[in-house]
Amino acid sequence: MVRKIRVLVAKPGLDGHDRGALIIAQALRDHGMEVIYTGLRQSPAQIAQAAVQEDVDVIGLSSLSGAHRTLFPKVLEELKHRDAIDIPVIGGGVIPSEDIPYLIDQGIRKIFTSGSSTEVLADYIQELIDPKTKPIEKPKKIAHIGIAVENIDNSLSFYTDALGLELEAVEQVETEGVKVAFINLGESRLELLEPLNDTSPIRRFLDKKGEGIHHIALEVDDIKTRLEQLIKQGVKVINEKPKPGANNSQIAFIHPKAASGVLFEICQHEKSDN
Ligand code: ZN
Repeated sequence: MVRKIRVLVAKPGLDGHDRGALIIAQALRDHGMEVIYTGLRQSPAQIAQAAVQEDVDVIGLSSLSGAHRTLFPKVLEELKHRDAIDIPVIGGGVIPSEDIPYLIDQGIRKIFTSGSSTEVLADYIQELIDPKTKPIEKPKKIAHIGIAVENIDNSLSFYTDALGLELEAVEQVETEGVKVAFINLGESRLELLEPLNDTSPIRRFLDKKGEGIHHIALEVDDIKTRLEQLIKQGVKVINEKPKPGANNSQIAFIHPKAASGVLFEICQHEKSDN
């Protein structure tokens, strides 16, 4: 029988609320993991001791008290004393973003913020423990930044003359009702997007917001899998399946609600042979 992943969920420090920790414990159980919960107000030494005794695969620390900067590293220290520093430690709770780099630097593997879903947490633990799990692929680069313009010919000279960038091509994407000017910029591009007709999404954008940045496109290797992962994580998407985009690409849009009002596209370009 395959051994279940064993997770110690612990709350170091003095805060007296464990609703969040209990929800997480239950969510991980729902994902087939064995969860040991230490209860409230555990010292770093007690937590490290419990982790060793229970032979867990990973430790999840939750802190709401603001003492994470001292308590999380102390747990690592106590693990070291017990020759158990190879047990990965992750953290969550109320952790201000400015503290995250410090905690990572101290040896905490990852900090989950209040916006993280339990789905993402479970996937992360799975991936951490089981090397056969397919990891979440990071986007490779900014493929392009889409800029909505009323008229490409009128807007072009800033890019090609003032900035001195090269216009690579102009293409009409009938399915999107848009004419696209591709302007090379390092390994990325700027794309000027001009509406071809009144039903074009770019027309609607211009009427609502005027000219300006329309979307940011991120290059991925496997758009189909990536899109499935996003949907599974509960990220709101506009396209549930990839669709053809400009320049022999497959594209899909993520809903701006998922990203602080920014419209993100993920795209995959055909590998060119030249
Ligand atoms: Zn685009």
